[in-house]
Amino acid sequence: MATLDAIIIGAGFSGLYQLYTLRDQLNLNCHLFEAADEVGGTWHWNQYPGARCDTESQAYCYYFNKKIYNEWNWTERYPSQQEVKDYLKFVAKKLNLFRSISFSSNVKEMKYFDKTNKWKIQLDGGNTFDARFVIMATGCLSSENLPIIANQEKFKGKILHTGRWPKENIKFNDLDVGVVGTGSTGIQVIPEIAKTVKSLTVFQRTPNYSIPARNQKLNSKKLNLHKNNFEYLKNVSINNRHGHPWKHSNTPIHQVGSVKDSMVLNKAWEHGGLSFRDSFSNINYDECANSVVSNFIINKIQETVNDPVTANDLSDFDYPFGAKRPALDTHYFETFNQENVKLISIKKTPIDSFNHNGVLVNSIHYPLDIVVFATGFDAITGSLLKINIIGKKGKNLKSEWKKEPINLLGLQIPNFPNLFTITGPGSPSVLTNMPRAIEQHVDWVTMCISKLINMKKNKIEASHSAALAWLDEVKLESERTMFLKTSNSWYLGTNVKGKPKGFIPYSGGLDKYTNICNAIAQNGYKGFIIS
Ligand SMILES: Cc1cc2nc3c(=O)[nH]c(=O)nc-3n(C[C@H](O)[C@H](O)[C@H](O)COP(=O)(O)OP(=O)(O)OC[C@H]3O[C@@H](n4cnc5c(N)ncnc54)[C@H](O)[C@@H]3O)c2cc1C
Repeated sequence: MATLDAIIIGAGFSGLYQLYTLRDQLNLNCHLFEAADEVGGTWHWNQYPGARCDTESQAYCYYFNKKIYNEWNWTERYPSQQEVKDYLKFVAKKLNLFRSISFSSNVKEMKYFDKTNKWKIQLDGGNTFDARFVIMATGCLSSENLPIIANQEKFKGKILHTGRWPKENIKFNDLDVGVVGTGSTGIQVIPEIAKTVKSLTVFQRTPNYSIPARNQKLNSKKLNLHKNNFEYLKNVSINNRHGHPWKHSNTPIHQVGSVKDSMVLNKAWEHGGLSFRDSFSNINYDECANSVVSNFIINKIQETVNDPVTANDLSDFDYPFGAKRPALDTHYFETFNQENVKLISIKKTPIDSFNHNGVLVNSIHYPLDIVVFATGFDAITGSLLKINIIGKKGKNLKSEWKKEPINLLGLQIPNFPNLFTITGPGSPSVLTNMPRAIEQHVDWVTMCISKLINMKKNKIEASHSAALAWLDEVKLESERTMFLKTSNSWYLGTNVKGKPKGFIPYSGGLDKYTNICNAIAQNGYKGFIIS
């Protein structure tokens, strides 16, 4: 392969769209490297039972091409993992992207050479490729987080992680299964596994607020409605905080216990889905308003779960609703009414160790055939830091980000010229419906590269002072929200041992962030150094 103009890493939503814009809109010589053996990104790896999107299907897709939007027919309100993967395969085929992708190609190392203004990319196995631009489309939630528990190697059963689910069909029938973790993934996988196991033991460190998804099949009337309203859905999504296709309420919750407020909440609960958190304007900002909603959910859990001890453990929150990623579920709380399912709180007494046929908690032995870790990801920075990335003057990304992931707009890092991070730290990313955040980033990067080429400039990089100022902005925004009302969340990085603690994404909203990015570009890329 000759020297390339651009290399893209990752074949999920971000990488596929970035390949298309650079190759087919800017006519650059591009190639994409992907560690997996097919397209799909995180939807390739997360094929655990019950894996499903929490964004509704009419919005969990690309909006950049209306024809493609109209040609694809979603079958359910929330697409399953398999359907998202099929959709991405369909798009890649439509846009003829496969010829520019190498699969089973894990990027191990990347080094920038000042003299030639080129990046050298090295794959596992040693092959190297040079390019002027590199776009990291490596994903916010693609680096799985495996807890370290003593004596794991002694366990004779199977250990699985939801984020690296094997392709083989895992049978749970008549087995004793343990699930560790009750975040969004645990909440999806637990009701599915509970259907066939002999026994299911759920180990819960932190309870999670969850809203009913109320998934359903989409009929042709609904599908056509989405297609006919494409422009409207697009317009609403890109002009709000979360990138979802509904307008947020402008009405605040006023009074604790108000009959009118609880009617609105009940209606949103019955409708299901993430729009529940937007049913009032102040849920995410005002502690008193938030407590109304948090208590509303606690009451729902207590009403649903029969055993009072289990109900209390499932609703024993030490943080408000929305401080962590809100989950959607299908009969999650109801699952704990099954006789074969039990909840073990490991809040005060974590899992001590494995032994050959189970785990020990507080000296009690739980016999298990399979342990499923639903323990999430080393989010946002994890997959970037897995690669040995060396920038200008031998600067190593791992050292540069030792204290915090210094960046400008979540798009570029000082001393790493012509390197772009799609939905990088410091951008709205995981706080949004991600295809909207991804399209916004890819379009910005494409425009930036196009301008650089037209101006006959060699490179662009974030200035150190602008990056520091941006980090201050990210911190300031987070202080206005509920996100800091917990000391533990993957948004803060505390789920990964040794990771610096700090709120990573930009929480000012996708609409506000897009305006900032556009203003900077129109202002000659203020804060970036172009040479
Ligand atoms: C279970 C689950 C549910 C989710 N639900 C939602 C939802 O409801 N709504 C929403 O908006 N988002 C959701 N997300 C977030 C999801 O990550 C994004 O929506 C979106 O898929 C991100 O796309 P991406 O292309 O940026 O990254 P990814 O899909 O993560 O793709 C990154 C790709 O890069 C590859 N890669 C990484 N490192 C390397 C390397 N060194 N060399 C080569 N290849 C590499 C990976 O193999 C992967 O294929 C969910 C994520 C998960 C895991």
